[in-house]
Amino acid sequence: MSINETSAATGAAVNADLTRPAFVTDALLRDLVSRVQAGGERAPWRLTEVYTGKLLVELPQSTPADIERAFAEARAAQQEWAAWPVKKRLDVFKRAHTLLLDNAQNIADLIQVESGKNRRMAIEETCDPPMVIGHYLKRAAKLLAPKKHAGPVPLVSSSTEVRVPKGVVGIIAPWNFPFATGLSDAIPALIAGNGIVLKPDNKTALSPLYGISLLEQAGLPKGLFQVVCGEGPDVGPTLIDNANYVMFTGSTATGRVIGERAGKNLVAACLELGGKNPMIVLDDVDVEEWVAGTLFGVFGNTGQICMHIERIYLPDSRYDELKAAFVKATEALAIGATYDFGPQLGSLISVDHRERVQAHVEDAVAKGATVVTGGHPLPDKGPAFFAPTILEGVTTEMTCGVIETFGPVVALHRYRTIDEAIALANDTDYGLNASVWSTDYARADAVAARIDSGNVNINDALATAYASKGTPSGGVKTSGVGARHGDQGLLKYTDVKNVATLKKQVMGARPGQDYDEYVDGMLKGLKFMRRLGIR
Ligand code: NAD
Repeated sequence: MSINETSAATGAAVNADLTRPAFVTDALLRDLVSRVQAGGERAPWRLTEVYTGKLLVELPQSTPADIERAFAEARAAQQEWAAWPVKKRLDVFKRAHTLLLDNAQNIADLIQVESGKNRRMAIEETCDPPMVIGHYLKRAAKLLAPKKHAGPVPLVSSSTEVRVPKGVVGIIAPWNFPFATGLSDAIPALIAGNGIVLKPDNKTALSPLYGISLLEQAGLPKGLFQVVCGEGPDVGPTLIDNANYVMFTGSTATGRVIGERAGKNLVAACLELGGKNPMIVLDDVDVEEWVAGTLFGVFGNTGQICMHIERIYLPDSRYDELKAAFVKATEALAIGATYDFGPQLGSLISVDHRERVQAHVEDAVAKGATVVTGGHPLPDKGPAFFAPTILEGVTTEMTCGVIETFGPVVALHRYRTIDEAIALANDTDYGLNASVWSTDYARADAVAARIDSGNVNINDALATAYASKGTPSGGVKTSGVGARHGDQGLLKYTDVKNVATLKKQVMGARPGQDYDEYVDGMLKGLKFMRRLGIR
């Protein structure tokens, strides 16, 4: 059975009385999926409500010809869009900022029905694109303005760095933050003058489709932001082969496939991939602050956050106290399938994913790990619910000791020296995120400096780094290539054109000049300009 069929089959009995949010009408769903570039040649995907397994809508699937048409239409619209002054493009995003926030509850409805996450997390997710817009509204005009640089010969030469859009950017997004990854990476690309062809995950295409409709209400030209749908291996090759830049968020395994294909085409790609993120707790930590931050860091989005914490290293001197406080708080978490702000924890994305998470736990237990709490599905809550789980005794012989689990599962480890904790934290192929806790910032900074990771959060698990939109955020090692946010989060979507002007032919030997004399003068000139600080 496919994921689709499994969740539909097993979910029918559970939450049968749950009423889906009033905003999510059949008419809205039909309108949203009509935006997918698909001619109807392929059988549609059955997009289901995660809490119940009920069909929401049949999602059209795109053929290679559909994808090529999407690129052609995006390219035609992009030619005009790129000719707009930056200020006019930014005006669209000023209006979009307001529209996205005014519609946050509706967006959260769609995120929840398609992903099964709890509402608290869904509403947080709606804030990401407005935050990205807010940052680039301040920064983009400066970044995209031509920059004049000195030429090789003072006074008579100059060079201008001109930023031109790449063209049409192909974006491939995962299901865990479908609205954020569908829109937030597109926003700087659009601001820079590009068109977009987005491939969301089939399971979670609704919220990005709705977000794009809001961008169009804000004035984004129709056709500029295209959506194609399908299974990754069906859509990926044509999408990558037509894109001028590829922005991918997803697993490390898929990232390798995408990076390889983009590389063959000599097209740049930004790859935001998985993690096995460690947390190191120092012995002076404030237990209440730590528990509050760690609950979210481990179980937020039901553990389906690329930057969430899967390994916690606790000091031997406080191990029992910290463990007891964390277990108690974990067992008190409110879990459930509702469309209100009650539950602290929602569902996993699918029955297949729940089975994968469970397999990680079972493998660990079979190899000697202990379940401190949780470790099992919660079928009375919904087809894909899994209990928040704390393990002890996890080793690198176990799947969940080395491979990302991507669920509500964390392993506690005891350390005796900071050197040992840092060595254990770094003993991974991943390098996406890490967390350090201490009331002494200098100590925490010293530990952060020694962790091999693209992000390190001090006294927080993940949100502080991710929400700091002015700083680039990406993974190292097998967690990624490139970054989003910050100046490079926009500039990566541009090519540089170096327009250089020479007002008089002064470079090279004059006609008839002795070449030794010319070389001597040139070398002396370079030394002189260095002394003057010109070169
Ligand atoms: P995934 O790699 O299976 O799928 C991601 C997207 O790629 C989906 O749209 C999928 O359809 C598509 N895809 C799959 N195979 C493809 C192929 N051969 N060619 C083209 N596209 C293909 O990942 P997932 O399970 O959907 O998402 C979870 C993963 O994403 C986790 O590993 C998580 O850590 C990672 N993630 C990373 C970040 C980050 O910023 N680093 C953010 C969110 C999620």
